[in-house]
Parts: sequence; C-alpha cells; structure tokens
Amino acid sequence: MRLLLIGPPGGGKGTQAKYLVEHFSIPQISTGDMLRYNVSQKTSLGLDAQKFMKAGQLVPDEVILGMIKDRLLKDDCKNGYILDGFPRTIPQAKGLDQLLSNMNHSLDNVIVMNVPDKLIISRLSNRRSCKECGRVYNLISDPPLNSNICNECGHDLYLRDDDIAETIQQRLNVYYQQTAPVTKHYEALGIITNIDSKGSIEEIKNIILLQLSK
Ligand code: AMP
Repeated sequence: MRLLLIGPPGGGKGTQAKYLVEHFSIPQISTGDMLRYNVSQKTSLGLDAQKFMKAGQLVPDEVILGMIKDRLLKDDCKNGYILDGFPRTIPQAKGLDQLLSNMNHSLDNVIVMNVPDKLIISRLSNRRSCKECGRVYNLISDPPLNSNICNECGHDLYLRDDDIAETIQQRLNVYYQQTAPVTKHYEALGIITNIDSKGSIEEIKNIILLQLSK
C-alpha cells in the first residue's frame, strides 16, 4: 500500500498516519518530522531548513526531494509507505512522479483531509508534543494525564515554534496557495479520496479505513 495524506496543518495527517502504520505495517514518512529531526541534530540541512519552518514557509523543493529520494530507497519501504506532508507543491508532486516511475512504483490512494480554518487554528494552538518520544496531544480533545508531561515517557511537552498564531495563519496561506493545487495533480490520476476531517480521531480513522477497503 502506497498512500499519500494531503491536508492543511492541523488536518490530522500525522495522527491518522500513526494508525495506518499499525494497520498496514508500513512506515510513515513525514517530511516535517524528518526536518525537525535535522533541526534538533543541528545538521546543515536542519540549520538551513529552520528559518523557513519558523516563518511558516516551505523548505525549498530540491532539499525535500533529495531527502525523500534517500528515504524511499530504504529497505522498510519495500512493502509500501504513508507519505505525510509531502508533496506540498506541484514541483514536489512531479518530482515524486519521476522517483516512483524510476522505481516502477505507483501510488494506491491519495487521501485529502478537509478541515475548516477555525478548527485548524484551535487544534494547532492546543497541540503539544513530547520532546522525547514525539507523542502528540491536544489539550482539549486528548490531554495528557499530568499537565505538560508525556503519558508515555514522562518527558516535557512543548508547543511547536510554528504553532503560534501568526505562523499558523501564514502556514494556512501557504497551504491554500501551494499545496491545495497538488490535489488537482492527483485528481487527473483518479486516485483521490476526499475525507471530512472535522470529527473525532476515531471517527476520521474509521472513515479512512472504510474508504481504503473499497
Ligand atoms: P509539518 O510538520 O508537516 O506541519 O511541517 C512543518 C514545517 O516543515 C512546514 O511548515 C514547512 O516549513 C516544513 N515542511 C514539511 N514538509 C515540507 C515539504 N514537503 N515541503 C516543504 N516544506 C516542508
């Protein structure tokens, strides 16, 4: 199963990808997570990417495509993968087409997660992530048992640099201008599934699994 999740920031891509990883036993490939790892390790890629991320802008396409190319060649991608947060621009989508065709691969499904802006802003400003294990919480719908402490590993939770109000608006603008057109690219291939992503985590999960079983 080769799956792509497209949606605005806060659309639930990362959360749903985690369930799909378990369900299909394939890896989640999140360009956002890969970039944050590089930032935390202070690699040269991370140091370059950081300024774009903090400003809510996209990291240049060639950086992302280089990262993805290496990742798709890894052994654990043999049986499929879930692309989360990539491609985010038309050049990235075309770059992915090229990579897939070189590997004789094709995508099985592109899930587009649709959420109203008001809900996105509420979800992102209440999102907290664990510094250590990466577990993501929502202070309203999925709070930690002890405030600001991860249930899983006991480490501190933090608000992402790019989840502050001004940056959220900028990321939404970028999504509508640069990423939403990517859905048109896949509509032409007839592999798009549009999902209403307003509901609870469980509801959205069931909708996705139902669509994928068709
Ligand atoms: P995310 O965790 O997917 O919301 O990504 C966080 C930030 O990383 C984005 O706001 C971008 O700055 C950067 N980023 C992640 N994925 C991509 C991508 N495919 N293309 C360009 N920038 C990206």
